[in-house]
Amino acid sequence: MSHKPERANDQGQKKRKRKKRTKQTITCAVTHIRLIEANPGKLAALDQLLEVYLPLCQQYVALFCTQETLPDKYADPVFATVLSDRLHRVAMQQAAGIAKSWRTNRQAAYDAYLEDLADYAEAKTQATASGMPLDPKRIEPTWKEWNLPELRVPAIQANANVVAVEQSEDSTFDYWLRISTLDKGNPLHIPVKLAPYHKKALQGRTLNTSTTLHKRKGVWWLTLSFDLDVPVETESSAQKVGVDVGIANFITTSTGKKYGSFHGKLARRHTRDREKRRRKARLRACLKKKGVEKLPSTSSASGQRLGRHVRQEINRAVNQMIADHPNARIIYEDLSVASMRFKARSMNAYLYASNLAHIPEQIAWATAKRGMAAHTVKAAYSSQECQRCHYPDRANRPDQQTFKCILCGHRDHADHNAALNLARRFGDTELAACKNKGEVKTRLLRRHEEWKKQYGLAVVQPAVQLGLWDYSEASTDVAESEKAHQCNI
Ligand SMILES: [Zn+2]
Repeated sequence: MSHKPERANDQGQKKRKRKKRTKQTITCAVTHIRLIEANPGKLAALDQLLEVYLPLCQQYVALFCTQETLPDKYADPVFATVLSDRLHRVAMQQAAGIAKSWRTNRQAAYDAYLEDLADYAEAKTQATASGMPLDPKRIEPTWKEWNLPELRVPAIQANANVVAVEQSEDSTFDYWLRISTLDKGNPLHIPVKLAPYHKKALQGRTLNTSTTLHKRKGVWWLTLSFDLDVPVETESSAQKVGVDVGIANFITTSTGKKYGSFHGKLARRHTRDREKRRRKARLRACLKKKGVEKLPSTSSASGQRLGRHVRQEINRAVNQMIADHPNARIIYEDLSVASMRFKARSMNAYLYASNLAHIPEQIAWATAKRGMAAHTVKAAYSSQECQRCHYPDRANRPDQQTFKCILCGHRDHADHNAALNLARRFGDTELAACKNKGEVKTRLLRRHEEWKKQYGLAVVQPAVQLGLWDYSEASTDVAESEKAHQCNI
């Protein structure tokens, strides 16, 4: 049985859909509101609640992540608890949210792994067929199963059923929080005093009914939020600007501009941080051998600072890019953290990957805030596809920076070529309908065929053509064309 509340009628839904095109709704969070204790012992009730709430939430996270069916926050409760039904439901909703994003990310990573594996197998078959050894730099991809998510920071993502925000009657405080706890029928009342900058942010806004309470280093914090409707100002005729996300340059646009980089200062800082962590690990190993029980922590403050610094640099790059293209329609890659990892393959993948993922997030946020239209498009082969003749091949990328089409000879900076491809993919319903990378490649190869019919003869040397063009329309599948390009090399 589902406990899903009734939804608005169909007409209301249609209305919402129509509205979506002219404005975007963004949710703004007001964070770091410290909960103050009006009288001693009050917050202790919150601590007690947490002791029951968190394990229950964790139980549901494990269930929702591992069960076959998708997480359903309205499903029947299955675990016993002393919590009220309302708090129980809130714990399930929080767990369902965590499980949903974990499952999506894990699936994306697994799909990326499978595609990488297929790619590797194909390269290996080719190598065997041609009698040439496989590029020693290519390593067979492996899959390591993900751990289930753990609730590290104690937090309660509540709704108005369990945490109500009430306007304060007198001027001493701004709000009162009415929080349901283990003591049924006897809610906790906690005053909220806003800092001037919180007040400014919330002025004239209608608060959302969802709130978050979390505890860090013994202090309870409240997060409030409100929705903001931002009209979309971008004209339908606006210039389409493609945005490629990378490491050498955080952002390269189809207009030929570059913003931010992992190289230079950030890379040096990263190296220092890594050395520090290695030293610490050696020290831990040494102490462990000697039987020391209390080992120095593995968390690295400098690593966290570095992460913050990278995100600041990313924000700066995104803002600069937007300032340079104020009237454009931004088209960027639909990249998951997993595919980022593949993009960062040859580099120190993991650190870069987690930070690279901040770039599309920041693009989405920064454009929405300004009422700019921004869209994601399929990223598959955008860095390998030739911007001129559509031919997609790893060999088109002799090195990280260079794009050189092995068929038509088109040359460009690799990131610029990719950005142009992305810009062109906006509104490309054929590519959008492709279900996997293989379908994208087949489609691009077909486009290459069409291009060739139109322009091919003028560009390619006749000697190459004989071996290359001599396959029928029906055989434009991946294997055939791979063979064809081998002849070319
Ligand atoms: Zn080409």
